[in-house]
Amino acid sequence: MRFSKYLIFTLREDPKDAEVISHKLMIRAGLVYKEESGLYGYLPIGFRVYNKVVNIIREEMNRAGAIEVLPTILTPASLWIESGRYDIMGKEMIRIKDRKDNWLVLGPTHEEAFTDIVRRTVSSYKQLPLTLYQIAKKFRDEIRPRFGVMRCREFTMKDAYSFDIDEKGLDESYNKMREAYIRIFKRVGLNALPVEADVGSMGGTRSEEFMVFSSVGEATIIHCPTCNYYANVERAESILKDDDVVENETMGELKEVDTPNVFTIEDLTKFFNTSPKKFIKTIIYMADGKPVAVLIRGDLDINEVKLKNYLGAAELELATPEIIEEVTGAKVGFAGPVGLKKEIRVIGDFSIKNIKNAITGANKTDKHIINVNINRDFEVKEFADIRTAKAGDICKNCGGSLEETKGIEVGHIFKLGYKYTESMNVTVLDKSGNRIHPIMGCYGIGVDRTIAAVIETSNDEKGIIWPITIAPFECVIVPIATKDEKIMEISNKIYEELLSKNVDVAIDDRDETVGVRMNDLDLMGIPFKIIVGKKAINENKIEVKRRDNGQTYEIPVSEAVDEIISIIKEEYKKYEA
Ligand SMILES: [Zn+2]
Repeated sequence: MRFSKYLIFTLREDPKDAEVISHKLMIRAGLVYKEESGLYGYLPIGFRVYNKVVNIIREEMNRAGAIEVLPTILTPASLWIESGRYDIMGKEMIRIKDRKDNWLVLGPTHEEAFTDIVRRTVSSYKQLPLTLYQIAKKFRDEIRPRFGVMRCREFTMKDAYSFDIDEKGLDESYNKMREAYIRIFKRVGLNALPVEADVGSMGGTRSEEFMVFSSVGEATIIHCPTCNYYANVERAESILKDDDVVENETMGELKEVDTPNVFTIEDLTKFFNTSPKKFIKTIIYMADGKPVAVLIRGDLDINEVKLKNYLGAAELELATPEIIEEVTGAKVGFAGPVGLKKEIRVIGDFSIKNIKNAITGANKTDKHIINVNINRDFEVKEFADIRTAKAGDICKNCGGSLEETKGIEVGHIFKLGYKYTESMNVTVLDKSGNRIHPIMGCYGIGVDRTIAAVIETSNDEKGIIWPITIAPFECVIVPIATKDEKIMEISNKIYEELLSKNVDVAIDDRDETVGVRMNDLDLMGIPFKIIVGKKAINENKIEVKRRDNGQTYEIPVSEAVDEIISIIKEEYKKYEA
């Protein structure tokens, strides 16, 4: 590629709306442009990176035995109605009405479409196991698109779906994908770890997210440095460190206390001059339209994902002040387990089991009760782990102390179970001639987010530092003076030869100062610059400069091509899976 005839578009200034490094650099290096909030298109330099990532993913999917297909992006609403997700998906799913008044969906995910392919084409156990995949656009009408391509409304995903005859088969298909993911992320230069993830309430049995640790990550990961337990906080389990609330106190007498204008646990702690662990928080939720009271110790937080899964609810939200008043008989802030006005389902987190003489809301405005004791004053029929694990808790596997970190989710693998094959009635004949539902797994990688995650973890003040495997070009030749015939002759010769030997090379022959061009190449993250200057004429030497650590090699012109090829080859070894 000759840059003089190419489209290079770089910016010196950070875009105003960019909060994270990858967003800034993707815009400044001319990888992407912003069409509209949450909508990014790729410019030539970015599209080269994109294609390299896609190729690596495709190679590894094929190696793992997955088969590529290309379903439609527009899917009929009927498929979603069949699976039961048409209403559940909410406003994130973009719906379109065609000229015949039929509703179509711009696929946010493709479980339905792939299940439909299998329903159309597979009828016997002999055709299984089968893992199908696509690398294609997805659409989600994010309420708050942000961080550039990291959370946007149109994006590319590789999504794969496995179909097996039984759970043992699913385990094998899942593990093959897991292996493939480890290879893919290694090859694109990402340190992505599989982390235990939420399995949802729809019959999934195992789920892992591939996380890249980064301060800009939107996911919180709980991990144990002692036994290497890693889990998304939505899923993480832990043991509470402090059981100091289990005291041998004698039960006191129930007593109402006036607490006007004392609402938060912090205020209450001051008012009663005691520890937040003495409080039982009572929170009223609406689960699929029905009120539920949830009890947890005052210093802890409810994990709404765990709660939603426990309840098997499709929708879970905090109750409105009107409903709270209806249920408790008091204004917001005074709910408690004793004497709720309305009889509703009560779920207790394990953390409240042993609190003696607790303080709770009185279900009367401006009043709390002290010396509340479980079993004596109120009953909890259902206990569950609905607490958010946090740093400092004890690891349930090894007793170590848990830590918290942030991560960018770049991939997700999921044992789905029978949800789609049952709801969409997909069956195959088994060995004995019985009709059975295949069991499914699904496996996604966000292509754009993978690119952004690489930039987040590999950059410096000059710009991006690409791993050679996904760099827009492996190397770029920089003729110091583009008007100097001799320099251009040597540059062109090296360029043509490298091209003929399949090196992904470009020549930056733009009519710009050498400083501008070098800065652009650094910003774009080109791994190797091949500098052809006066030394090429006077001393017969060129210079190869590494982007990552600035190291330079002087090479005789006559050996340049072979030497560059060998340097590049060596570089690839770092990313071998
Ligand atoms: Zn541990």
